[in-house]
Formats: sequence, structure tokens, C-alpha cells
Amino acid sequence: MGASIAERVSTNEIDVACDVVVVGAGFGGLYALHKMREIGMSVRGIEAAPDVGGTWFWNRYPGARCDVPSLFYSYSWSPELRREWRWTNRYAGQEEILSYARFAADRLGLRKLIQFDTRVAGATFDETSKQWVVETDRGSHLRARFVIMATGGLSVPNTPDIPGVADFKGSIYHTARWPQEPIDFAGKRVGIIGTGSSGVQVIPMIAKDAKQLVVFQRTPNFSVPARNRPLTDADHRSFEEGLETYLASLEQSDFGRVPPTAFTADVPPRDVQWARYEQLWQEGGSGGFLKAFPNILVHPDVNEVCADFVRQKIRETVKDPKTAAALSPSGYPFGVKRLCVDTDYFDTYNRPNVELVNLREEPIEKIMADAVDTASRHFELDALVFATGFDAVTGALLAVDISGRNGATLKDAWSEGPKTYLGLTVAGFPNLFTITGPGSPSVIGNVITNCEYHVEWIAECLTHMRQHNLATIEPDGEAQIAWGAHVAEVADRTLFPKANSWYLGVNIPGKPRVFMPYIGEGYRTTCKEIVADDYRGFVFGKTAGHERVAAE
Ligand code: NAP
Repeated sequence: MGASIAERVSTNEIDVACDVVVVGAGFGGLYALHKMREIGMSVRGIEAAPDVGGTWFWNRYPGARCDVPSLFYSYSWSPELRREWRWTNRYAGQEEILSYARFAADRLGLRKLIQFDTRVAGATFDETSKQWVVETDRGSHLRARFVIMATGGLSVPNTPDIPGVADFKGSIYHTARWPQEPIDFAGKRVGIIGTGSSGVQVIPMIAKDAKQLVVFQRTPNFSVPARNRPLTDADHRSFEEGLETYLASLEQSDFGRVPPTAFTADVPPRDVQWARYEQLWQEGGSGGFLKAFPNILVHPDVNEVCADFVRQKIRETVKDPKTAAALSPSGYPFGVKRLCVDTDYFDTYNRPNVELVNLREEPIEKIMADAVDTASRHFELDALVFATGFDAVTGALLAVDISGRNGATLKDAWSEGPKTYLGLTVAGFPNLFTITGPGSPSVIGNVITNCEYHVEWIAECLTHMRQHNLATIEPDGEAQIAWGAHVAEVADRTLFPKANSWYLGVNIPGKPRVFMPYIGEGYRTTCKEIVADDYRGFVFGKTAGHERVAAE
């Protein structure tokens, strides 16, 4: 093993010394910067992009839109920001969400704390000083007591290694790294690989412009209509009226889709279910479906009725029966891969310029300079779009070379899957926090509010440490093992593990199959109880190194 960053970097090579380094300036990172400053910490942010926004900076493909209603996909902690910002649509588009992130960063005066266009390459815990040394790809170094990884659960694009991809001479795009300037597909023959949430959104948009669109589909997805529309004054009023109840509900649980066992046996009659699904289909959005019946994601018979319902809708919409059949998901439950929310997705396949290629019947064999060959056909293309998703949840954390106590690396610690306590901390990595890390609700539900809760938990923890002169915090190994077992046990009570989803990491070759998000009830209550019980399961270090560091 080579010398660690902490050993290599002498004191005079430290460019910035501060209390907290926040990695990432998406919604989690921005709030972390604000909150750390508010509790009196000196704080620096590092962001790879030239601007704030995180995933909303990069995912600017046509049609990119959030699937959580905009009034809720906002910072819940700030009445001021709420008063000064008015969402225009039921579901906000990427541009509007990015503007909101910029507005929040400016309004809170956060930009001056952030070093943009800079990627954190590594971070090492220095046992002697009990501080982290953080190295960037620009060769600069920061020293800080705490590191908050606000790197996002969906930020490292996955580009599958399809034979010949490097030979393609046309334009290649990835939905998660879309260029800043608009792309003109008019008159072009475009191929797209991937039909997850990103594909489902971008396909109808490209289809409108391109001469020809060929969709290479490996697994059909369940998708429900968004029914996006402009928000009215009445919508805003009704949100304000329900605000207190909404904020209180966040305290209970953001997800809570694993019902008590007593409910799991109930199977509502098919016609009752069908009527409810029809109503939800007309209302639009995914939230209602996922909570339509308490055990919809638990009981296979309840779930199958919903799956049937969506398949019927696909058959009713798509005129060509063979295409409709290929678009109909089967063999895995409804809603346990992230449910897609679309605008005219299935209808797009009725267009004469759109063709679906079922890769289950004719897999891609190779990509050439100007074409894609499947097992049975040859498609000449001018442009290729990868809508192939992310190395989710752990990808961005493991992309940083992190080493903790005794030089142990996070990569090794997580070689068989991520291990955390509460999805916030990792044994052997003191004073390192993972916003929406694996083992927390993370990417399930409303990610902004999930981020907020973690930031607030960390702020309370750091305040506690300051008050009690504590130098370090890290989880006890046993507590971490028990938490991991609980996360897995809760997932196993549901249908989630029955689909090959990115929640389990199966989209990335070689990634251990581990269900990463926590989907139990009352996550916040559990975290609070642990704090109230004197930070049960955590170990605090009392040695030197707890002095505040003034920002340089
Ligand atoms: P995704 O859900 O992982 O979908 C990736 C797609 O690429 C899948 O259809 C996958 O097929 C396909 N694929 C991957 N490798 C392939 C290969 N080698 N050959 C052929 N097909 C391949 O990724 P995503 O659509 O970017 O969405 C990821 C997540 O981001 C979503 O689930 C959601 O949480 C978030 N997101 C949200 C929104 C929104 O708010 N509306 C929009 C976009 C993204 P398989 O299924 O067979 O693996």
C-alpha cells in the first residue's frame, strides 16, 4: 500500500483548513453548507460541476422532469424560500428545478463557500490529528475534522461496455451527462438504449424531432402517466393549508411501505383494486399507486392485479399488438423497480418513425461506425443515446478514494456490499457522514426531504460533540452489523428483492447484490431514539483534535 494522502501531504501543502468539507452541491450539499455555517462551523464545499444543482445540473435531457410533485420537491425547512419561490407546474422540469437550486444557493449566500469544477479524488483520516485530509483532482488539499459526502445516490452514469461502442462515429449522448447546448435531432436516425425513468421521459421528446427513433429495450418497465399541468392558485392554497400536516408527516416516516404483518394477508377484491387503479391512472403520478393498498408492494396477489391493470392500459394504448406485448412488463412485481412516470410514453410507439427493438429476442451484437447490429437486424444510425442509468447509491462514494482508520479503504470495507449505521456513518471511518447513504431511505421517496433529515441529524450531532468536547464519532461494528441485518430483513419482507433493479446494484457488472435503501417505517423515529439513548451504537473519541478550525 502506498503512502496515504495524510502521510504525503505536509502541513504547508494544505490549501484550506476548516471544520467541515462538504462534497457535492446538490440539494443535500447546499443545505449541509448552510446548516454547518448556521451552527458555527467553518465549512467548504467542493463540486465537480461548474454550478450547483447536482443531478439536476447534469440530467438536462429533453423531457427531464421530477416524478415527485414540485410543491413537495422543495426544501421543507425554510419558510422564506417557500414564500419567495413559486413552482409553475405540478411536476417541475429540470430547468425549473435547477433554477430553484440556483435561487436557494444565491438566497442563502452559499456560492462563496463552494469550489466548483473540482472533484474530490481522495480523503484520508489522519489518526494523529483526528482530521481528514481531502485531495482534489486539481491537486489542492483541505484539512477538516468532518467530511460530509453529499455526492448523491444517482450521480455516476452507467455506460455499458457494448462491443464496438468506441467505433461509433455519430454523436453519442448519455442522459445523465447531457450537453448544455440544445441538440437538434431533426432529420437524424437516432438509437436509444434504455427504458428506465430517463428513457421513458426522453423517448417521446426525441421521437417528435428525429427522422427515425429506434428504441433498444432490454426490460420493459411499468410506467404511469404524470398528467403534468400548470399549478393553479387553488393548488398553491391547498398546499399551504395542508403544510403543517405534511411537515408533521415527515417526522413519522418518509416511506413506511412495509406494513405491519397484520395487514399483509388482506387481498382486496379485484374490482375494488381495478377501480382504485383507474382513478389513480386518471389522476396521474406514481405516489398514489405505490400506496394504493397497504400491502401492494408486499403481497404478490395484490401486486399482480396492479401489474395486470398497467398491462391492459399498454394494450389499449399501443396499436401494434406485438409492440404492446414487448412493452408489457412481466416476470417481476409492479413498483419494485422504480416506477416510471411518463408523458405519452406508450403512445409514442404509435408513431410511424418509432420502432421498438426487443433485446430479449434480438440482443445487440455490436456497435459499428454508423450502425447497431442486433442478432437479426442492422440499424443505421446518426446518433446514439444511452439512457442506461447509474451506478446508484454507492457509486459516487466509492469513486472517491476514501481511507479511514489504519489505512482501511471504503472500497475494501464495502467489497461485499455497503455497510453503514443508519446510512449515515461507517465503522472505521470516524467523522465521515454519508447524506442519503446506503442503509437509509436514500433514493426512495422524496430525496430532498431525505437529504434534509440527514443534514439536520448531522448538525445536531456536531453540536452535541462540541458541547461535550468530543473529537470523533463512528459507529460500533456490532451496531452496524445489526442495522445492516435489519435493512435486509425489512426488504426481504417485501417484493423489492424480486426484481433485478438498481436498488440491488444488479445493473452494474460485479456489484454485490445487496438491497441498498432502507424501506422500513419510522426511520426518523429510530434515528431520534438512538440519539435520545445517548447515541446508542456510536462510539465517541475524546482525544485531542476537537478544537474549532477557523477557515483560511
Ligand atoms: P435505469 O432505471 O437504471 O434504467 C436504465 C435502462 O437502461 C434500463 O432499461 C436498463 O435495462 C437499460 N440498460 C442498462 N444496461 C443495458 C445494456 N447493456 N443493454 C441494454 N439495455 C441496458 O436508469 P434511469 O432511467 O436513468 O433511471 C435511474 C433512476 O433515476 C430512476 O429509477 C429514478 O430514481 C431516477 N430518475 C428519476 C426521474 C424522475 O424523477 N422522473 C427521471 C430520470 C431518472 P434493464 O432494466 O434490463 O437493466
